[in-house]
Amino acid sequence: MASPEIPESLDILRRVFGYDTFRDGQQEIVEHVASGGDALVLMPTGGGKSLCYQIPALVRKGTGVVISPLIALMQDQVDAMRALGVRAGFLNSTQDHDERRVVEAQFTTGELDLLYLAPERLRLASTVELLGRGDVSLFAIDEAHCVSQWGHDFRPDYLMLSGLHERWPEIPRIALTATATEATRREIASRLQLEEAKHFVASFDRPNIQYRIEPKTDAKRQLLRLLQAEHKGDAGIVYCLSRNSVEKHAAFLTENGIEALPYHAGLDGQTRAANQARFLREDGLVIVATIAFGMGIDKPDVRFVAHLDLPKSVEGYYQETGRAGRDGLPSTAWLAYGLQDVVNLRKMIDGGEGDAAFRRRQAMALDAMLALCETVECRRVRLLDYFGQSAEPCGNCDTCLTPPESWDATVPAQKVLSVIVRLDRERRQKFGAGHIIDILLGKKNAKVIQFDHDTLKPFGVGTDLREAEWRGVVRQLLAQGLVAVESNHGTLVQTDESAAVLRGERTVLMRREPDRPAPKAAKAAKDRKAPVELPAEAMPLFERLRAWRAATAKEQGVPAYVIFHDATLREIATALPTTLTELGHVNGVGENKLAKYGPQVLETLTSAD
Ligand code: ADP
Ligand code: ZN
Repeated sequence: MASPEIPESLDILRRVFGYDTFRDGQQEIVEHVASGGDALVLMPTGGGKSLCYQIPALVRKGTGVVISPLIALMQDQVDAMRALGVRAGFLNSTQDHDERRVVEAQFTTGELDLLYLAPERLRLASTVELLGRGDVSLFAIDEAHCVSQWGHDFRPDYLMLSGLHERWPEIPRIALTATATEATRREIASRLQLEEAKHFVASFDRPNIQYRIEPKTDAKRQLLRLLQAEHKGDAGIVYCLSRNSVEKHAAFLTENGIEALPYHAGLDGQTRAANQARFLREDGLVIVATIAFGMGIDKPDVRFVAHLDLPKSVEGYYQETGRAGRDGLPSTAWLAYGLQDVVNLRKMIDGGEGDAAFRRRQAMALDAMLALCETVECRRVRLLDYFGQSAEPCGNCDTCLTPPESWDATVPAQKVLSVIVRLDRERRQKFGAGHIIDILLGKKNAKVIQFDHDTLKPFGVGTDLREAEWRGVVRQLLAQGLVAVESNHGTLVQTDESAAVLRGERTVLMRREPDRPAPKAAKAAKDRKAPVELPAEAMPLFERLRAWRAATAKEQGVPAYVIFHDATLREIATALPTTLTELGHVNGVGENKLAKYGPQVLETLTSAD
């Protein structure tokens, strides 16, 4: 029973979920929705959005209906709820008639706290009729940015969700998304008729994620070094742009002793689903994927997200990296990017589909991403600034840990531009960055000789820098808009701003790459409870608990994290509870899990002696 002083929502948080306190913003949202208000919630990935509708659904009479596009994950979501003792079910196209009938009956007789529903089911009159026969406590619209026609996750069925409001005007609705820009928020509000709703914008900071961006030299080796040095045995996601690159890198990691599974749209549905399921269920697997992977993946213990290609926008980058460290423990977001990424993306945008306005928007998104890569300031400050939030330098990103110097690159920039100006006269040929650098370095290779480029005035004037350094210079010129990519051939050309540099009227500052990669120095999360650091002596116990968890999860056919999160196991391994009451104080151990697993956990602890 809730004691009279504790609000019902906090009591549920503690008893059912086993968490002591709400995170930033959760309580306000929960109370607003529980008391019948509409809400539009913007919270970063891993911020804790689910509780914002799960708890109101438990407080209010009737069933909370959750609209979610993530059919493949519904079973896991429902299993996770049931493990907490919450009565949950789902309806989607993966079920047969009989399975659906059972859930429908549970709903109409009031035996469900939560019903997960795929949006396409609302197209059926029978679904709307079903909802009319039961008692709906609230509608939660998850991944609400799917209503945005400009976004990459657009789902036409989401457009129909405004109909819910017309049919059930008095039932509260809560829409949630991690897509943060002002424009997206306005679009969601208008399409879902949530202009009148209260808007909650949480801090987008994810303090436990360490952001690192480094120039790409040998992506494979760089990745391997990162995983071997810092993430042995950890679960993580590696993002690549192309299917081919996904396959190649998954094979490469596996050959090097790191078990990695591929995931991309070219794989047949079954393999894809199997790989996703294994990643979710097993400990310590790496998934190498295109960005098709990840929406709704709520695995809490993803320790790193690595990007081997430049993301097209800061929003995409932030959503993808946000999949690391949902449990609040230290995690890494690592990106390697190079000159060729910039050339490819610029070419793709210029030669791509859509009208001029669309291409302009894409180009601006890319520029913001490049500015983030080349900044000498704190990455987090830049990221949050992009989402309209301010912050202090964080101490937990590469630029804070190893501040890069900036250097005056005006002369090298002039050298590059002077080659480009001369090549401009032979514009029908493809002269990419490599050729320009060969000329600067004075290399007499076949192409140079074929076009007589060893007779150009700047031939060989660049021997003061190494090839890798020249690539850095050209990359940064591209990022700063002082050189552009001509879309047809990928030839580098001047821009309106280049002339001032050539005339010596403009200084060009560049970021000097630190010689060594940033040291790993994770700072404890600022405003969240500092995660429990695991002392070496607690490690064997933690491993034993993990083994118990793996066996139990397998037996029950659920992902390991549905039983307990890593963070909870760490706390158990250090706090060493000896009674069920003590175990119940550990964060993440609610009443239901205590009753169900408590004795086994205590036994695992004592049998270790
Ligand atoms: P989102 O949907 O915003 O990406 P989730 O709802 O999946 O995030 O929550 C992220 C993780 O944080 C989950 O593992 C969840 O159990 C945990 N979490 C959420 N709220 C709290 C809280 N108040 N205290 C502790 N852990 C929490
Ligand atoms: Zn920083």
